[in-house]
Amino acid sequence: MIATINPIDNSLVKSFEPVSAAGIQAALERAAAAYEHHRKTTFDSRASKLVRAAAILEEDAGHYGRLLTLEMGKPIGAARAEVAKCALACRYYAEHGAEQLAPETIATNARKSWVSYQPIGVVLAVMPWNFPFWQVFRFAAPALMAGNAAILKHASNVPQSALAIEEILRRAGFDRDELQTLLLTSSQVESLLVDDRIAAATLTGSEAAGRSVGSIAGREIKKVVLELGGSDPFIVMPSADIDLAAKVAAKARCINNGQSCIAAKRFIVHRGVADEFTAKFVDAMQALRVGDPMDETVDVGPLATPQILEEVAALVDDAVARGATLLCGGTRLAGPGNFYPPTVIANIPPAAKLNVEEAFGPVAALFVAHDREDAVRIANATPFGLGASAWTRDEEEQRYFAEAIEAGQVFINTMVASDPRVPFGGIKRSGFGRELGPHGIREFVNAKTIWIA
Ligand code: NAP
Repeated sequence: MIATINPIDNSLVKSFEPVSAAGIQAALERAAAAYEHHRKTTFDSRASKLVRAAAILEEDAGHYGRLLTLEMGKPIGAARAEVAKCALACRYYAEHGAEQLAPETIATNARKSWVSYQPIGVVLAVMPWNFPFWQVFRFAAPALMAGNAAILKHASNVPQSALAIEEILRRAGFDRDELQTLLLTSSQVESLLVDDRIAAATLTGSEAAGRSVGSIAGREIKKVVLELGGSDPFIVMPSADIDLAAKVAAKARCINNGQSCIAAKRFIVHRGVADEFTAKFVDAMQALRVGDPMDETVDVGPLATPQILEEVAALVDDAVARGATLLCGGTRLAGPGNFYPPTVIANIPPAAKLNVEEAFGPVAALFVAHDREDAVRIANATPFGLGASAWTRDEEEQRYFAEAIEAGQVFINTMVASDPRVPFGGIKRSGFGRELGPHGIREFVNAKTIWIA
């Protein structure tokens, strides 16, 4: 069902009919025509539209923030901050896109040779609900700046956010068909992806969705970027500022109600500071206020859907049934809505699913390491490779972790975060390709070699 369902009580707010097969064909036709027009526009004109989009996002952050909170339950302050962050991405690519895609002269034995970066066509974006605006803008801003057109298939539980994004870009001056939102079910995605008018795809979401879209794209020989799950380690060494590490650890685990791909999920603490860190971390987790995400003082709102609540609770119950120790939380909260408390689990046996599956809720798995090599061994013992945070004031150790951890990004003495200026993405089963930074804008372009003899 494509619908807004308020996760604080699972009441139906508004439902939508998926686009028909004929509607998909008409949208593809309009997208192809929009691309032919858009690819010929100048960088300056695209940049000025992105700057207008940024201004709209900033002015209306309160309005759009409430929509995000209504549809998926993130705390209202974080929702406003997400909308404002989208403006940063628009401004970043408005300012740097032209230079990032400028022709590059390469010295050869030709009279003249260079690489020209050209748009590739209509890109299909399949996006998740957890950051309903940010996930889309971090793809859309560089894609539009590069001269591509896009069709957005957003997650089924954030249809109003999806429609709002299309409207913002239209108000900013983009033609409506340069980025079209289509309200689609996941089973309709294949019919778009196999169509010749779609040049490429980007998917942010679960491994299962990535496998499906990635295999169709492979079969069709179309470029695809996959941003999938993560089970990020958060390593704490004896030289770290333990007070700060414990405070940031709670935030890094519970950000977005625990539903972030780059939330810290596995806390790996050197045995020399394990007791001190654990006590402070558990205190910080218990101090977080759980409740109505529209309340400005609430830190943790409900999980987005009853299914996610079931999955998170099942992972905790499985670990406890196998002998793990609950240090706080661990029982779903009474009453309506998908509320689950901040939870810390230690002594997790190897067979527990929590070791290999992503906990997409405020559940922290705690591990004790003998030394830094042991910490890296535990950190890398996961099918994922998205982000990692390591806490140490020892510079040699900082370099060691930066090199040895298998991840797309390693942050030292701070939590992992995305930033328009630096590339973002994963390795292993966290996916492939990069978004953001100079790398992001070059994912959906043709790097065309030109050689003049
Ligand atoms: P999801 O179920 O995979 O949904 C993501 C998107 O994919 C939705 O639009 C969904 O549509 C669509 N989809 C699902 N199955 C599909 C299929 N077989 N074919 C085509 N499209 C399909 O993911 P989620 O549970 O909503 O999101 C959470 C996951 O996303 C977590 O694993 C999280 O770590 C990951 N994530 C990764 C990043 C990153 O940058 N690496 C960022 C955020 C989230 P419907 O809603 O209609 O099913």
